Amino acid sequence: MAKMNKSFQNLKQNYLFAEISKRVGEFVAANPDAPLIRMGIGDVTLPLVPAVVQAGKNAFDEMGVKETFRGYEDSGRGYPFLREAVAGYYKSMPSEPGSSPQLPTPDEIFISDGAKSDSGNIGDIFAEDCKVIVTDPSYPVYVDSSIMGGRQVAFADFAGTNLPETADIIYLCSPNNPTGEAYTYKELKKWVDYAIANKAVIIYDTAYEAFITQSDKPRSIYLIEGARQCAIEIASLSKIAGFTGTRCGYTVVPKELVLENPAEGGHANAGSAWKRRQATKFNGVSYPVQRAAEAVFSKEGQQQIQQNLSYYRKNAQIITNTLTELGIDFTGGINSPYIWFKCPDSMDSWDFFDLFLNKANVVGTPGVGFGKNGAGRFRLTAFSTHENTEEAMKRLRAMLK
Ligand code: PLP
Repeated sequence: MAKMNKSFQNLKQNYLFAEISKRVGEFVAANPDAPLIRMGIGDVTLPLVPAVVQAGKNAFDEMGVKETFRGYEDSGRGYPFLREAVAGYYKSMPSEPGSSPQLPTPDEIFISDGAKSDSGNIGDIFAEDCKVIVTDPSYPVYVDSSIMGGRQVAFADFAGTNLPETADIIYLCSPNNPTGEAYTYKELKKWVDYAIANKAVIIYDTAYEAFITQSDKPRSIYLIEGARQCAIEIASLSKIAGFTGTRCGYTVVPKELVLENPAEGGHANAGSAWKRRQATKFNGVSYPVQRAAEAVFSKEGQQQIQQNLSYYRKNAQIITNTLTELGIDFTGGINSPYIWFKCPDSMDSWDFFDLFLNKANVVGTPGVGFGKNGAGRFRLTAFSTHENTEEAMKRLRAMLK
């Protein structure tokens, strides 16, 4: 009989969002008329912006005409028009005064169907005995996919104050899910220096980069000197442009990044390995979606997505104002759609989840689901409507009275 991957036994029993959905499902079955407000899973609520919709429609029209129909994309790594648009987007990012960052070029960019698959799949290019560091709390995919790949995971805090002596792969996420914190240039430089000193690779998840508003926080790791020799960056259009159901993202593997490879003269190019991996297991993102994604980076698209981001920022402010008023400690909400707070009365995160659900009919995310350091914390998202966000905060105030 075929044997199951033994590493699956090392996974925690329930994927966080599956457990939330189970508990919410039971609650709804028992209380079908309850006015539920969902602020748990990080899904967006605003529709795609008009420039994106139009570009996607135009591309589908092209697909229905013999002369402009397209089948498999040759490279499977993204059409040049989109890789060039992404490279242009990097050039538009503010950088630290006096710095001259070397930004990704189109041939270092790989278009994907999103950051979840890339952050899970990137492990394929590394040896099984690589030691992984994940900051705790974190997006669960880094830990679970490392475990599935048979790797040992060690944990660090966001600032990297308690780092082990050796590391090979380091997952970082800024602005962070779930804590909403974003690295400053100085803080991120510390990680880059550590990675270089350890010959480690940072997998840098920037799924929320466009939420950054403070000028001392970089929107890409490539704005930090030295990052090209030690970092892979994984980005997504899901949260910044509403692509959670449309699916598109990109991963950057700089040419300078090498992995140890005793079989081939000592070193192998990480970009070539990723290209080989993708060519084997991935057949590219659909042409209409790539055209829609290209429109995100157009002048019109950028203006339109900024309106959506402002809408979510206002929700974040409604939440942070309420928490401040209630005297509850929190992080996030400024450069991030996530607000991470300490459960009132030192409650356990799942107990607070159940209380908030049952007493206020609001769904959030228990912090402990993101790691040990998330115990006693809770995450709310700013992706709801203004009305629901206001209402949820009204119920929180009433519940805590
Ligand atoms: N990375 C982080 C940190 C996330 O929070 C999420 C989604 O919640 C993703 C990646 C997934 O992004 P995508 O929709 O592009 O797969």
